[in-house]
Amino acid sequence: MYKNLKILIIDVGHGGTDPGAVGNGIVEKVANLNTALALKAAAEAMGIKVFINRTADVTMSLEVRVKFANDIARQYPGAKILFVSIHHNAGGGDRAEAIHSIYRGEGQRAANLIANELHSHLGQQKKVYEKRGSDNKDYYYVIRNTSMDAVIVEVAFLDNINDVQICDSVEEQQRNGQVIACAIGKFFGVISSCNDNGEVIKPNPTHTPSPSNELYRVRKLWGDAASQKGAYSIKENAIAECKKHSGYNVYDSNGNCVYSNGGSQTSQPESKPVPPQTRKLDVFYKVFTAEDGWLPEVKNLTDYAGVFGHAIRGLMIRLSSGNVDYKVSTLSSNGYYPTVRNHEDYAGDLKNNVDKVQILNNKLKYRVRLINGRWLPWVIGNSDFAGLEGYSIDAIEIDSI
Ligand SMILES: [Zn+2]
Repeated sequence: MYKNLKILIIDVGHGGTDPGAVGNGIVEKVANLNTALALKAAAEAMGIKVFINRTADVTMSLEVRVKFANDIARQYPGAKILFVSIHHNAGGGDRAEAIHSIYRGEGQRAANLIANELHSHLGQQKKVYEKRGSDNKDYYYVIRNTSMDAVIVEVAFLDNINDVQICDSVEEQQRNGQVIACAIGKFFGVISSCNDNGEVIKPNPTHTPSPSNELYRVRKLWGDAASQKGAYSIKENAIAECKKHSGYNVYDSNGNCVYSNGGSQTSQPESKPVPPQTRKLDVFYKVFTAEDGWLPEVKNLTDYAGVFGHAIRGLMIRLSSGNVDYKVSTLSSNGYYPTVRNHEDYAGDLKNNVDKVQILNNKLKYRVRLINGRWLPWVIGNSDFAGLEGYSIDAIEIDSI
């Protein structure tokens, strides 16, 4: 008998000829494997015996997955065993999901623990539930046919541009595996809390979103704005981006280097525009690009919205008080798209590059940058538009006057 043995069986969803969900450039079978391998390593580090049913991109039927698990259960009678199936979702949603058996029990407890960790570490909305088929039995094959407590985890929705932000890099997928491992460790009672400082969850400087006016910029040097690869309100997202670019650093809003990927360490905060004492109106705006999705919101002239070289395909604007109406045209539209107000909608279609922007509020000035690097003159309200017909733009600045 194996009374003291704790076993985690990891089912890595999809694989081989079955890609699973696909969205925003992420293929589920790949994200599942990266997440699962990190989960395996972290769980093993806690002393849990781990079995994983694939460690490569191979096709595997549901029957084989169930047999793999049930064979292990037969081999280790008396052991405490949990089956966790790793997936990423698609089809409309913005959350993590954990699905357990209609018989609940320990599977439900594990599902709650996993959803709670994904919520507290990643800010994910969560949904824990069971699903019955028309025969009133468990709907999902691996839950219905495995002999142990079983949970299916859907980490995030790959086809949701917001939700995908937590899993669109290998580092994030690995971090998510560590977060799930933290829940598993609690489930088996081998850890009582998650350590964000390198033991359980590794590359993880902070999980709390920064105040909205804090922005982490990925640049070679603080003063070298042209080298910027992106600006993020969440530090770990900036660090993940920075890791892709050797010779770059992450700077906070004060120009302090908070992470280095080999960039020059000397940082001299550039002088930032000081808001006039009399400022009454703050304008917040963000843009969408094919490469980045929706970029973090920026306020007034603390930054520009956009990433140099990435064409803007959508725009959203709101004010600290009052309404702002605005409209854009794209390279392929016939004139302007309909005017939108505040965050009731976005301007643009997210598929075609914006060439002209007009803001119908005479308390605002704005300018855009052509993708070739040239900032066009400031425009006030609807006296003119910003842009050049037929030319893509990659950055916009808006301020109140
Ligand atoms: Zn799946």
